[in-house]
Amino acid sequence: MNNQTTNNRVTEPICLPASNYPRVVIIGGGFAGLALIEGLKNKKLQVVLIDRNNFHQFQPLLYQVATSGLEPDSIVFPFRKQISAYKNVCFRLAEVEEIKTETNTVITNKGILSYDFLVLATGTETNFFGMKEVEENSLGLKSIRDSLNIRHMMLQNLEQAAITCDKTEQNALTNFVIVGGGPAGIEMAGSLAEFCKYIIPKDYKEYPSSIMSIFLIEASDKILSTMSEKSSGRALKYLEKLDVKVLLNEVVTGYDGKTVTTKSGKKILAKNLIWTAGVKGQFPRGINDLKLANGNRLIVDEYLKVKGYDNVFAMGDIAAVITDDTPRGHPQVAQPAIQQGRYLAGALLNITNKKQIRRFKYKDKGALATVGKKKAVADLGKFNFTGYVAWLLWSLVHILSIIGFRNKLMVGLNWTMSYFNYEKSNRLIIRNFKKTGN
Ligand SMILES: Cc1cc2nc3c(=O)[nH]c(=O)nc-3n(C[C@H](O)[C@H](O)[C@H](O)COP(=O)(O)OP(=O)(O)OC[C@H]3O[C@@H](n4cnc5c(N)ncnc54)[C@H](O)[C@@H]3O)c2cc1C
Repeated sequence: MNNQTTNNRVTEPICLPASNYPRVVIIGGGFAGLALIEGLKNKKLQVVLIDRNNFHQFQPLLYQVATSGLEPDSIVFPFRKQISAYKNVCFRLAEVEEIKTETNTVITNKGILSYDFLVLATGTETNFFGMKEVEENSLGLKSIRDSLNIRHMMLQNLEQAAITCDKTEQNALTNFVIVGGGPAGIEMAGSLAEFCKYIIPKDYKEYPSSIMSIFLIEASDKILSTMSEKSSGRALKYLEKLDVKVLLNEVVTGYDGKTVTTKSGKKILAKNLIWTAGVKGQFPRGINDLKLANGNRLIVDEYLKVKGYDNVFAMGDIAAVITDDTPRGHPQVAQPAIQQGRYLAGALLNITNKKQIRRFKYKDKGALATVGKKKAVADLGKFNFTGYVAWLLWSLVHILSIIGFRNKLMVGLNWTMSYFNYEKSNRLIIRNFKKTGN
């Protein structure tokens, strides 16, 4: 260890190539960060991407990794491979802990670095709304690690259920509760239901195919509340057809690792609880004395500048562009993040070339969600599709959005195979998983 530390903090500069160009530091290589890099590649700016992981994760398909539908390396992509041909872009693996705006410095767990322009694209983390017990005992779905944790929890509990002769314990091990009726929750519920329908009879012959009970709990009066009535209603029908028990107007208030409690007094025995009910913005210390938007998001103006700073920008899930038209900011989905990344690339080039910049304008391209094979809903402007056509569209959009040719190929191949035989990929337990609260 060469670097000096003060209070465990590394104080040496992070080594970077020499450059005469202004330096743009981007924290976070999600959809927004990568779209910005694409727009700045081989331009007269030095671009430094910092991320705590060395890979981009395609979050919309995390649920498929969680239910053994895809392998993890099909939906993650190494940053270094992505930027290998970009002369002005470099990547440093580090966690940003603090930002010192007075000195234009970023402090990470590996060292410090200075910036001319700083872009926060740090996304969100799971929000358990302060319920510590629920957080300790359940699993979120925000990262590839979360997906693998869910997969191992599910496979281990199914094995344990085969071992125990105690029927109550067997029920608890094979009951699944998903909290949150947004796209992530309904996709997870649909995928688990398909696992139960098609994989259980093949792999777990000792069980009846009804062994897994899947509950989806939603606090409001409908699932997919940001989509049209038609899409929301159809998604509900699809889930019910797959035997998912959808509980609307129910709020989870507690979970001790075995029993889920709701506000209305319901108790559900389940050793598997997957929490998709909310996210909150995550960003390093140093700019917190600002007023934040709902969901811990940074308020930015229509140029994506963080209020109060001239050279600090935020985009994607962490940013809320608050205007009269968008009083709650844009939706926290991939399209605004990608469009903001592209916009900011043009804006930064214009700023450094002393040209005028235009305001960011979001173009809503619609919303899609799937509940399982041939079952999807799509809202595209005034048009709504459901069923097979929507599912084909969903599949196409997702294949095109995944980063990397190999990943597109792997996902496409996997889906084609499972289209014909409903087979999922490997169902190996390769590491022992234990929930922290248990
Ligand atoms: C389960 C799930 C399903 C989804 N499904 C859909 C869908 O079907 N359609 C859709 O449009 N959207 C979907 N979304 C939402 C979509 O994935 C997000 O809107 C999108 O990922 C936001 O992009 P981003 O670049 O803002 O942040 P992210 O993609 O979250 O990237 C943030 C990056 O910042 C890094 N980071 C954070 N803090 C630090 C730090 N302090 N130091 C270093 N690095 C840091 C993280 O490692 C990460 O790489 C889904 C999300 C989830 C979780």
